[in-house]
Amino acid sequence: MSQNPLEKGVNRVQILSGMSDKCDELLISVKNMRVFSGLIIVSVALVLVLNACAPQRTVLQQVLAMGELKILTRNSGTTYYEGPQGPAGLEFELAQRFAQKLGVKLKIIIPDNLNGILEKISEGDAHIAAAGLTITDDRKKQVRFGPAYQSITQQVVYNVSRPKPKSIKQLDGAFEVLAQSSHVEQLKLLRNKHTELSWTENLDADSTELLTLVAEDLIDYTVADSNEMAYNRRYYPKLRVAFDITQPQELAWAFPITKDDSLYNEAKIFIDELKASGELERLLKNNYQHVKNYDYGGTHSFLAQIRRRLPNYQEMFREAADQYDLDWRLLASVSYQESHWRSNAVSHTGVRGMMMLTNNTAAELGVSKRTDPYQSIMGGAKYLRKLIDKVPTHIPEPDRIWIAIASYNVGFGHVEDARKLATKRGDDANKWMDIKATLPLLSKRKWYKQTRYGYARGWEPVRYVENIRSYYDILVWHLEKEQPHLRNLRPILAFSSNVL
Ligand code: GLU
Repeated sequence: MSQNPLEKGVNRVQILSGMSDKCDELLISVKNMRVFSGLIIVSVALVLVLNACAPQRTVLQQVLAMGELKILTRNSGTTYYEGPQGPAGLEFELAQRFAQKLGVKLKIIIPDNLNGILEKISEGDAHIAAAGLTITDDRKKQVRFGPAYQSITQQVVYNVSRPKPKSIKQLDGAFEVLAQSSHVEQLKLLRNKHTELSWTENLDADSTELLTLVAEDLIDYTVADSNEMAYNRRYYPKLRVAFDITQPQELAWAFPITKDDSLYNEAKIFIDELKASGELERLLKNNYQHVKNYDYGGTHSFLAQIRRRLPNYQEMFREAADQYDLDWRLLASVSYQESHWRSNAVSHTGVRGMMMLTNNTAAELGVSKRTDPYQSIMGGAKYLRKLIDKVPTHIPEPDRIWIAIASYNVGFGHVEDARKLATKRGDDANKWMDIKATLPLLSKRKWYKQTRYGYARGWEPVRYVENIRSYYDILVWHLEKEQPHLRNLRPILAFSSNVL
């Protein structure tokens, strides 16, 4: 039976579409067609063939070919923010590592709200949504979740100036939650049992703003993920957790639902490897532990002193920081930890002044009067710079800074001892998280007798650095609030050992 050659050609194109290894065969059949058909027909067939021959790239191949991984996220301390040394936040760090592993650049897209993130990812407008998204049953219909990397609970939050609600039944007042969030999904479930439960869904605010509304007594309650709450509570000492409304839930990256598993599988391997190597745990601690250990009670006085005492010294901090190439807000945070910005501060060990210098250090630094705030701040900045410069340059920021600051507290020699011990114990002497775990051992005979400088109250520099990190976060946040044009400097945060 004779067959229309065009039909035959088209059939072949359809059949072979996507099978680039069959392209040679296909081109041969096109050549044959030329015998039977006119030029136009051949041209049409060629276009079809070229389409068929274009390699059908997997999502992973596309990412590699474009050299770019597009992620959707949101701007918050638990996800992505501009930190002292550039972009930071757990989601950013994870995504950045993944992009590095793939050898591509990271492109960050920040939609207006949670809904925008979910819509865009389900439509395939980006490769991954990395936004502290909770895995929920409803969302599983819309997106595909990768492996969980963190556990949180959902918490009802109230302002301490009001009575603490003990259960859902006692929620009596303005209750606002984030629209399209896992919180709404949970409240809907709870309403099956508590039919009186009602709330308002806010589409414009983000979770941090809702917490601010509670802190400022503009609404009575909201729901927050436990990591967001722990982070923000440092800024808003009036915030309190009333109760949890979920068991631990998991956060994970979300992917579009497609048949193409290539990028998803690669991401799964990446997260699984991070877990197996202990690196994920380290990242979580790095982002959250100082938040978890923060003494919330301290925020009131810190905020009060930012208003009361800091203005007297701010220019001095700036000048000293400029001279010694430091971040003045970090220098001010060290000083607050040392003296609470009291120029005549004195400790039982005889250290004195804004930067609490010992007599010897002051003499070395050329500080003649330790209680002179200007001299003390200039001396302290010079000393901190010296310490930073002593830390090996191959140690990346911010670890280098934390090591230097720990040395400001306990002495460079002890920190060096802790680094050597860390190596002995198979830990990484260049990672602040590992040094932090080792420092407290300097108070135990078994360990300090193996060191050069011997006993030290090693837990103190750990606490010291954690406090300074929190003071720094709060100070930057406060300055930004006062000067909204500095918004991109906002360091926000989060944490957990696992469940916050
Ligand atoms: N993890 C929650 C969610 O997935 C809250 C996110 C947020 O705070 O924006 O809906």
